[in-house]
Parts: sequence; structure tokens; C-alpha cells
Amino acid sequence: MTQFDYDLFVIGGGSGGVRSARLAAAMGKKVAIAEEYRFGGTCVIRGCVPKKLFVYASQFHEHFEDAAGFGWTVGESRFDWHALVAAKDKEIDRLEGLYRKGLEGAGAEILHTRAELTGPHSVRLVATGKEVTAERIVIAVGGAPNPHASLPGHELCISSNEAFHLDKLPRSILIAGGGYIAVEFANIFHGLGVETTLIYRGTEILSRFDQDIRRGLHEAMEAKGIRILCQDHIQKVENSPAGSLAVETMKNGVLVVETVMLALGRDPNTTGLGLEAAGVEVNERGAVVVDRYSRTNVPSIFALGDVTDRVQLTPVAIHEAMCFIETEYKNNPTSPDHDLIATAVFSQPEVGTVGLSEEQAAKKFDEIEVYRAQFRPMKATLSGRAERMIMKLIVNAADRKVVGAHILGHDAGEMAQLLGITLKAGCTKDDFDRTMAVHPTAAEELVTMYNPTYRVRNGERV
Ligand code: NDP
Repeated sequence: MTQFDYDLFVIGGGSGGVRSARLAAAMGKKVAIAEEYRFGGTCVIRGCVPKKLFVYASQFHEHFEDAAGFGWTVGESRFDWHALVAAKDKEIDRLEGLYRKGLEGAGAEILHTRAELTGPHSVRLVATGKEVTAERIVIAVGGAPNPHASLPGHELCISSNEAFHLDKLPRSILIAGGGYIAVEFANIFHGLGVETTLIYRGTEILSRFDQDIRRGLHEAMEAKGIRILCQDHIQKVENSPAGSLAVETMKNGVLVVETVMLALGRDPNTTGLGLEAAGVEVNERGAVVVDRYSRTNVPSIFALGDVTDRVQLTPVAIHEAMCFIETEYKNNPTSPDHDLIATAVFSQPEVGTVGLSEEQAAKKFDEIEVYRAQFRPMKATLSGRAERMIMKLIVNAADRKVVGAHILGHDAGEMAQLLGITLKAGCTKDDFDRTMAVHPTAAEELVTMYNPTYRVRNGERV
């Protein structure tokens, strides 16, 4: 036994923290994990999981409409917000239970308290004031919505945290931001019958994605009835009569809505964590600075997941935790691989993407081939829904490698997961061409786009 109370102390019970605590404990290490709120972190408690459940809920009214084209008559339908929230909460409770069970089963000690660093090997448990020591400490405290504190009236606005527990569904909502959360929630609220407006400062939503997909999603959302205001931002939010909010915008005058949601990025949760006491370095955004093995500048302290502001995605935090275990406890130095991360935006239609956008690839390579298909999905033929799928493959002409794949449409996220394997494996366009299609699917388009739609040479479309 070492001179420390624990071999490993983990601060934060989210995806990265739980995975590192559970794996270390399962190896026989003496592990404690402290969480001040609920186990499961942002992803399980107020992020990916409840969001996806809400996405499903918000799609039913379109399903009911589409049913007519297939011969069904659907009776009167009504939506009950409280029933959805209760069902979602029940599922989240179940998942939280599984997280705890996994930790307990592996032998980790669960501590229901905030924990703050007091030194390179020590942590104070805020609930009791007790100080404990550990050979290694992992900081996995995640992030929190950027409150946009400089905005007058920001305290009247909600973030995604509150969106999961609203007392009632608002009649109207204005969502600020053009990233994952803003776009996903705009579709959720619209689908549940809320009059929805999105306000975004840039020229097009989803700034880091392929331009075609961004434009296609924008058009599809507007066609559904979501109002999108680009190149504009909120200047002030004030209470107005009848319980509404008056929102002063830069370009679109005053908008009166019931709820304003800010989705302007997430900040690392490092305030008051005792990082100064332990001598841990943070960057200008307050994120813990780590090396390629997730080590901070203090050799006994590590950081994983959103608190490091590398890539804010659940699977990335889990992967970083597994690399930490390999490196520190299995004598197998492994650094997380952040290249070619497939990702999905659960907008409606969905976005699935991996690799470089056309714009990024055109800057990186002398010549690229772009394969692009836009078509009506089969289901829309009978439903009569005016929707289009977009699929795009970006190929480096020099070696024929597929360097980007982008999809807009049903199940794009599911397809992105599999495309991620092909790009990771370094597949060429010829490998795609050799692959037999699965018919009839939308995905078959990915292996039947034989000729480039166009090329981009030295940044110019030819
Ligand atoms: P994003 O980084 O995706 O988007 C933030 C948005 O806020 C951008 O449109 C950004 O504009 C805008 N913005 C930032 N600061 C300001 C400002 N001061 N004034 C006006 N606009 C501003 O963050 P989200 O909050 O949507 O999500 C946080 C992270 O969570 C994401 O990065 C993602 O990694 C993860 N996430 C993943 C999901 C998934 O996998 N499906 C779902 C939800 C979240 P600009 O683009 O111009 O910088």
C-alpha cells in the first residue's frame, strides 16, 4: 500500500470520470470518485441521452402526417409535455443507477460531494471538510453552458440544462447560437409545436461543417417553419407584459417570445476547483492544459473530457479515460487519437459527418474530387414530404483516399459511424466503388456515385 489514502481519486462522475474510476477499480486499485450532482454527467443527465429522447418525441407529428400516404388514418393526437419529461426522467434514473452499479461492482468508493484540489496529491471533500490524499488524481468535471454574462438580461434566459425540466412547454422560443445544441433544440421545440426562431451571428448555421450540408439543413428547417436569423445577435432581453420576454436584436428589431434559450458554447467547469492550490495550469478559456497523455503540468494530476476543451464529445472523453488507464496502469503509453472523429447533429433532418469538409479539403490538397448526390428518400415518395437527402464524398485526387464524408437526412448519424471506420482505415474511392450496394437503402448512394460531380483544383471549382 502507498502512503496515500487512494491510488486514484477521480473528481467528476461523467463519462470520462466514471470510465477511468471503474476500470482502475476493476484492476484492484483503491479508487474514490466524487460527484456533486448526479452520476452520468452531462451526457446522461442533461445532454445526449435526454436530448435524443426529446428528438424522438418531436418527430411523431411528422410520422402521423406521413402515415396517410401509406394508407393509415391516425386519430386525434395530443402531446403531453409533462408525460414526456416524466418518462425521460425515469429512463435517466435507470441509467444513473447503472453507472453507480458499475462503479460499485468494480469496487470504487462513491462520494456524494463536491471535491476541490488542495495540492498535487490532495483533495478536500466539501460536504465534510475532510481532506484525503491520492497517488493520482483525475479531473473530469466537464463543462457548463456559457452564460453570456455580458448580455443584459442573460439571467432571464435558459440554457439546455433548464430545457429538460421546463414547467411547461412555451408557446414561442428564441434560441441563440448556430451550433449543435441550438440547431438540435430548435428542431425539438418546433417538432413539439413551439413557434421557434434561431438567431445566429454567422453567415450560416453549423460553422465547422460542410457548406452544402449547412445550407441544406438551413433550407430544410425553414421549410418546416423554423425562422432562422443569420448575421444577427441579441443585444438585450427584458421582461415584457403578460409574462413574455422582449428581445432586442441587432438587425431584426424587437422579438417578443415566451422563452429565450442561449446555446453559445460550453465552458470548462474549473472555477473554484482549487487548481491554483495544486499548481495546475489552465488556458485562457479556463480549460485544464494537458499533454498528449492527458497529464497536466503537475505529474500526479490528469484531466479528461470537456474540462480540457479538446473535443467536447462523450465518446472522446471515454476514449481519453481508456488511454489514461492503458498509460498509467497497464504500462502501455497510449495517447488519445483525435483524428477523424465521426459526429452527428440530431437535427431534423439529421447530419452525419466525418473528416474534412469540401472547403477544408480544398485548402489542404492541390486537387479534390467531390461526389455529390441529392435525392428524395424512398419514404418521401408516398408520404409526399418535400425532403431531400444530401450525400457527399470528398476524395484527394492524388491518392484517391476518401478524406471527408457528409450526409444530411434520415439516419445520417448511423451512417457516419460506419463511414468513420472506412476513413479511419484509409479507404480509397476505389474501395467504395468495389463495394456492393445494399438495396434499397439511402446509403447505397455512397457506393454508387461513380463519377465526380466536380473537381476543385488549387481552390477553384473546375
Ligand atoms: P457549439 O460550439 O457547437 O456552438 C456554439 C455556437 O454559439 C456557435 O454557433 C457559435 O458561433 C456561437 N457563439 C459562441 N459565442 C458566441 C457569442 N459570444 N455570441 C454569439 N454567438 C456565439 O456549442 P454548443 O453549445 O452548441 O455545444 C457545445 C458542445 O457540445 C459542442 O461543441 C459539441 O461538441 C457538444 N455537443 C455535441 C452534440 C452531438 O454530438 N450531437 C450535441 C450537443 C452538444 P460561431 O460558430 O460563429 O463561433
